[in-house]
Amino acid sequence: MSAKKRPIYLDYQASTPMDPRVLDAMLPYFQEAFGNASSAAHAYGHEAADAVKQAAQEVAALVQSGLPSGGSHPLIWTSGATESINLALQGYVRQHQPEGRRFRLATLPLEHKAVLDTAKLLEREGLLELVLLDVNAQGQLDLAHLERELKQGLDLLAMMAANNEIGTIYPVQTIAKLAQDHGCAFFCDGSQAVGKIPIEFENWGITLLALTGHKMYGPKGCGALVVRRGTRLKAQIYGGGHQHGLRSGTLNVPGIVGLGKACALRQAEMQRDESHTAQLRDRLEALLQAEILDLVVNGDLAHRLAGNLHCSILSVPNDLMVKYLGQQLAISTGSACTSGLEASSHVLCAIGLSADALRGALRLSLGKFTTETEIETAAEVLIGAYWQAQAHLQTD
Ligand code: PLP
Repeated sequence: MSAKKRPIYLDYQASTPMDPRVLDAMLPYFQEAFGNASSAAHAYGHEAADAVKQAAQEVAALVQSGLPSGGSHPLIWTSGATESINLALQGYVRQHQPEGRRFRLATLPLEHKAVLDTAKLLEREGLLELVLLDVNAQGQLDLAHLERELKQGLDLLAMMAANNEIGTIYPVQTIAKLAQDHGCAFFCDGSQAVGKIPIEFENWGITLLALTGHKMYGPKGCGALVVRRGTRLKAQIYGGGHQHGLRSGTLNVPGIVGLGKACALRQAEMQRDESHTAQLRDRLEALLQAEILDLVVNGDLAHRLAGNLHCSILSVPNDLMVKYLGQQLAISTGSACTSGLEASSHVLCAIGLSADALRGALRLSLGKFTTETEIETAAEVLIGAYWQAQAHLQTD
């Protein structure tokens, strides 16, 4: 891809570009400060270990996982949210098998595949009964259903804080409180939410929280699982006994430093950036709605990530839109992890979109580097592609 012709990037929910300040913070840890954070006997190791400690504080500050007594809840560094989710779910379920009855795990049908596929694996192994909670057309959880299941007895609730396709934001505080009141552990997939909306690990009573660097202007391949103190997990990766034996493997110090820096920047700038992003998103939405009369916006418009615009053009299948968009825009017609597959998105199926809305679904996602000019151009390009697609359909 030549530098001149790069498409306008509107796929921030798949991955964000790294903030240059994050890269600057990481660079020394590839070369002069390259030590192994486990090398306790020399200065190279201490330097790396100190950097990891600082990053842990930066993550803890962003997700508010500090303890009232000082210190903070433990944090396990991972290769990203997929690994954090596996450690949380497999680690918790395998560790907490009840005597004489089956472990009960509840989740939403529109969770990320990392949650759903892990839960289904454990179900196939006979380690749990899986309860899929009802959601409405906006993707919101049916709280009454959750309460009924909690009353019947749930061991673990696994829910995202915000959805990666339709951008729906969930009332995590309320959900965590309900789980806590019923003695149920609560795993929260914060991949799309941490660094975009406030998350208060300690105050809200979250048991386990997964996060990832590459959705918040940090590096790919680095994430974390925040674990409520005292929560026992069964390790999923064995080796040198790193991270208290919970996740063996030499720490990815540059990645960890980058994740920490990304968290520190998000903490300082999130509110301002997100309100600017929401304004741009609203402008794009208005420009498209003014010209494309059969465009419907999906998700929960009152509780939606600032950068998310998920819509369906009812008369135009998304593959035709993509054809006429050419290489001018980088957008998604499914979530990045599954867009190579032919099948419709399980998220859009779960919220009951009509066949036309499914076929015409487009996810546009913006971020802090999106500019006004890009939004004006993107709207023109989308509207142009729409009319070309209409002409195509009429001649068919
Ligand atoms: N959970 C959600 C909601 C996501 O959006 C993603 C990434 O698309 C993941 C989990 C997996 O994250 P990672 O790419 O860091 O493994």
